[in-house]
Amino acid sequence: MTVDNFIDGEWVVSEKEQYAPIKNPANGETLGEVALSTAEDVERAVAAAKKAQKQWALVPAPQRAEVLYRVGLLLKERKERLARILTMEMGKVIEEARGEVQEGIDMAFYMAGEGRRLFGNTTPSELKDKFAMSIRVPVGIVGIITPWNFPIAIATWKSFPAIVAGNAVIWKPATETPLMARELINIFAEAGLPNGVINLVCGSGSKVGTAMVEHPDIDVISFTGSNEVGRTIAEKCGKLLKRVSLEMGGKNAIIVMDDADLDLAVEGILWSAFGTSGQRCTACSRVIVHEKVKEDLEEKLLERMRYLKIGDGLDEEVKVGPVINGNALQKIHEYVQIGRGEGAVLLAGGYILNDGELADGYYYAPSVFTDVEPSMRIAQEEIFGPVVSIIPVKSFEEAIEVNNSVTFGLSSSIFTRDINKVFTAQRDLDTGIVYVNAGTTGAEIHLPFGGTKGTGNGHRDSGVAALDVFTEWKSVYIDF
Ligand code: NAP
Repeated sequence: MTVDNFIDGEWVVSEKEQYAPIKNPANGETLGEVALSTAEDVERAVAAAKKAQKQWALVPAPQRAEVLYRVGLLLKERKERLARILTMEMGKVIEEARGEVQEGIDMAFYMAGEGRRLFGNTTPSELKDKFAMSIRVPVGIVGIITPWNFPIAIATWKSFPAIVAGNAVIWKPATETPLMARELINIFAEAGLPNGVINLVCGSGSKVGTAMVEHPDIDVISFTGSNEVGRTIAEKCGKLLKRVSLEMGGKNAIIVMDDADLDLAVEGILWSAFGTSGQRCTACSRVIVHEKVKEDLEEKLLERMRYLKIGDGLDEEVKVGPVINGNALQKIHEYVQIGRGEGAVLLAGGYILNDGELADGYYYAPSVFTDVEPSMRIAQEEIFGPVVSIIPVKSFEEAIEVNNSVTFGLSSSIFTRDINKVFTAQRDLDTGIVYVNAGTTGAEIHLPFGGTKGTGNGHRDSGVAALDVFTEWKSVYIDF
């Protein structure tokens, strides 16, 4: 399977005709190849988007929404096929892949609904015989840059609101996961989206991503990815006065108080820390536990971990799949060495799995450190792998302080039976998302998704809030 670029309604070969292989991280098998495009390809996509956008913006919003409704139906019809490709391409286990495709389906119907609303406001004028109102108008050309860990969901979180609001889109998927991009683009075409309203340009961040960020005719960049890359994009957009929405990393914590249901807490930790092999922006990488229940919690967690089957995510029994590639594997292992060097105690894992059936893939043993100090690097930096650090605390107040002591602010959770602690925690936890008696993952598309501090720059994916990224407010005064 070859993934080329999709420009003005056609699959086209990149100017330079260079390709990179697409690999299955579970077994190293080559699944196909993806175009390594250039700035000239971005230029072609911008020309197509400019041509299409003006007409698309004139289509009544409820009719634009109908296209998304058809996209939703096609996603639903192909859910199993998409989930299987997703698992082969990026490694997450099949059940999680189905969940990710479902997020795309939910987002299609949700944003189709928004196309029937796209509300503005009317307001009483100060003056006689004057009518005052505000309306949402499209921004114009939207550049979308997405990561590999949610190759379809994040693309839908960004492209659906952008399209329903009347924009045209240029999308650069991660080089690791172009097969999902190809599937979604074909669905848009089958659903009847006019040519040029969505364009796909595959290739590296340094070439295609940079060309998009720097292009004067791309009006807004919506980026999800690492903090390092997000910062460089923000600097460039700042100089160009270009709107930019950044969704970046996390260092998410689960707080377990001494009155918590420990079995429930262990389930939350297990799936938040080791689901998608810890490669979620909302992954739990810190457990902040009251010292009174620390030993019980550790015992229960280690017992449950014994039953986590590791392997190719297409096997329905497997609970932890591979990580994305060899570089990720090495980076995770380096962090484990750092943790050991810092004096943390390794309770489980801490090694690369490369025996037997796992020999050709990229597998890391689910790992647990305990007696971790909040200031250690393993408790501060995003590892993006199946490694969790247990941090003991003496009180609720200390737990909140430790939770907030990192530079990220995406997701936190608290397990407690005390209603007062619940309300205090939802107020004081400095993250964009708070869970009570559930893990740090599992956001729904109806609410804003994103974080505070180093996780983002104040914008949100998902929910009605997503429309703020892709629309301008226009104020209209009519004298009569
Ligand atoms: P990444 O390395 O930052 O890449 C993200 C995207 O940016 C890819 O498409 C990449 O292209 C592109 N890119 C790289 N350098 C670029 C540049 N100089 N200019 C423009 N684009 C550039 O992140 P990743 O490894 O794919 O994803 C993992 C990160 O995403 C983690 O930090 C995770 O926490 C974060 N994430 C955040 C959220 C959230 O909503 N907050 C959700 C999911 C993931 P290529 O890779 O193809 O070169």
